[in-house]
Amino acid sequence: MTRVDELQKKYPTVPRYVILKTDFNVHGIRDWGNLEETGIWSRYAGLGTYATYDLDITLKEWVEMGPGRVKPGMILRPGRFVFPETGTDIMPAPSVNTKSDLTIRAEGSGKYAVYQGDERVDEVYQMPAMGSNIVAKEQLTKSGKPTSNFVHWSTKCCFQIIPVRFCEFFTLGMACKFCNFNPSQDDAASIGLQRSTTINLDEAVEAYKMRAAEVTVLEGHSDMGAIAKSGADVKIYAKFLEKIASATRKKPNLFILGVPTSRKDMQRLKDAGLDCIAYQMEMWDADLFEETVPGKAHFVGRDRYLEACEEAVQVFGVGNVGVGFVGGLNMIPENGRKTWQESRDSMVEGINWMIKRGVWPTTLYLRLPPGAAYATEENRKKMPPNEYYLELFLAHLKAAKETGLVNKWNRLMWCPLDCLTNEGAMAAYDQNGSVGKWAAAAVPRELNWLLDWEEQHRVTIQPK
Ligand code: SF4
Repeated sequence: MTRVDELQKKYPTVPRYVILKTDFNVHGIRDWGNLEETGIWSRYAGLGTYATYDLDITLKEWVEMGPGRVKPGMILRPGRFVFPETGTDIMPAPSVNTKSDLTIRAEGSGKYAVYQGDERVDEVYQMPAMGSNIVAKEQLTKSGKPTSNFVHWSTKCCFQIIPVRFCEFFTLGMACKFCNFNPSQDDAASIGLQRSTTINLDEAVEAYKMRAAEVTVLEGHSDMGAIAKSGADVKIYAKFLEKIASATRKKPNLFILGVPTSRKDMQRLKDAGLDCIAYQMEMWDADLFEETVPGKAHFVGRDRYLEACEEAVQVFGVGNVGVGFVGGLNMIPENGRKTWQESRDSMVEGINWMIKRGVWPTTLYLRLPPGAAYATEENRKKMPPNEYYLELFLAHLKAAKETGLVNKWNRLMWCPLDCLTNEGAMAAYDQNGSVGKWAAAAVPRELNWLLDWEEQHRVTIQPK
């Protein structure tokens, strides 16, 4: 019996897709098979930057493993696969783990399956080409730069812009210890993938408008807060949001992941067109906050994160505010939680605290990619098992149902078309039985490719 089958027996109410996705994310994938066929030529490794979540391999090593995986400005990365029961992806940047027992094998005629060792786990499909990195049709800005330099289209109607591809905490020696943001840019540069750390916002808006003239734009998100002085970037973002918000007839749902700003600046961002905001707090445990996220502890402080979450609910409304935690991070420091159950109990406390206040938490899978301060083999052995995450997702759903947040949550915050989190998937299945049906409340039918998927999969999905 595979791990996924065993977990399904143990957690019968968790959708199989969430169990599969968790197994993929906890263990990483060793091999994709047919990378030339299934991979994506991209300007990105993940997150709209070159940051990777790979468990044990640098981009340089990735390229050395197979010839022809890099060309000017682009890298061939594993593409996104989706599971049969939902159109939602495994994750935006699949994680490579050269020691994993999971592989994806081609089974002929465009069919693929996940294997654990030699046991077949389930079929998977290539995610239909939705719009990201379709370089064959690359448009150029007036100055002749590819539009994908500025705007990453996750689907035809969802975009991501990362204006600053640099985190000052690294230069200050205060980087979050699980993160490889700056080192991964250096890693990319070592294979010739270099680009500016900031983008010209006017050119980004120009690039955005070119695509937006052809499609209906549903939502967009951005990361803010790579600059240590809180609020220093608010002006830039407010200007950028105003331009995006007014560039098309229908304003897309706009979401920023950032660090807490003053309440005045929250209002400024809202007035500029921002709909949702999430703070990446990463660590709930008070005694481990400074040790694990020193820059955030020094420049913001744990108390301000909590206060800002409550303020943001007053500004943006219940269901439009999120918070990010990194699962199992509290198990890594010497003085950290000793078992995954202790770690889980602490995280559940944080999840409940947030949900009671109208904030939607997200637990990210812990990875310790090369370049991160905690990236050692010894630390990787402490990482929590699948059960840990599944029990957190169940606790989240319970609290969200008890408080009613499950129905008030903005369904475009973590958009179901391209980046739905596990907590979102749990809510979607619980409320409507499928991600596509749940998305229908926020997504016009012509854009809801998940409903098309539900109608067509297993029958008509074709290889690229
Ligand atoms: S703030 Fe922390 S998580 Fe974000 S990029 Fe900087 S070091 Fe990484």
